[in-house]
Amino acid sequence: MDYFALPVQKLIEEFEKLPGIGRKTAQRLAFHVLNLSEDRVIGFAKALVDAKRKIKDCSICHNLTDTDPCRICGSEKRDHTVICVVQNSRDVVAMERVREYKGLYHVLNGLISPLDGTGPDDINIKSLISRVANGKVLEVILATSPTVEGEATAVYLSKILKPLGVKTTRIAQGISVGGDLEYADEVTLYKSLEGRREI
Ligand SMILES: [Zn+2]
Repeated sequence: MDYFALPVQKLIEEFEKLPGIGRKTAQRLAFHVLNLSEDRVIGFAKALVDAKRKIKDCSICHNLTDTDPCRICGSEKRDHTVICVVQNSRDVVAMERVREYKGLYHVLNGLISPLDGTGPDDINIKSLISRVANGKVLEVILATSPTVEGEATAVYLSKILKPLGVKTTRIAQGISVGGDLEYADEVTLYKSLEGRREI
């Protein structure tokens, strides 16, 4: 990439690090940025920095939030006796599209994956156990995706949560095997939630 001036080369490299962006697209985006007015570029850069600085993990559920606790954990309108366990914040957004769900969430920020070296201590499991042990939780819905890691994580969680006397359920297999919650439509998610079974 010697034929690009150094700052342009650097910009292309940064775009290329983003998910789903290949070399060609990175170049197209870099040149698009160069054609924008300076104000727009500053606005764009500020939005990136602001989002990074202002958004934190909720201290209760680990969902990304600009308030702590997040608006879901802090809401009196939500059912605080039900916790839906998901892999990441994008899955919370997916579940929120199912308007029938009124409970709380717990974001694991990953799944147990021996192959990737991710164990139970590397994801937000301890805080889930304390929530269940100290709170008024009656049911924990395990809504990790139906992948090998998602299933393994759900089985692990049900084993450690059951002795705490909480009902542990697994969402039904409406979502295609290997699929992600975030790509499932509302009807599929709703059916999968309604069809949950105790495990
Ligand atoms: Zn929260």
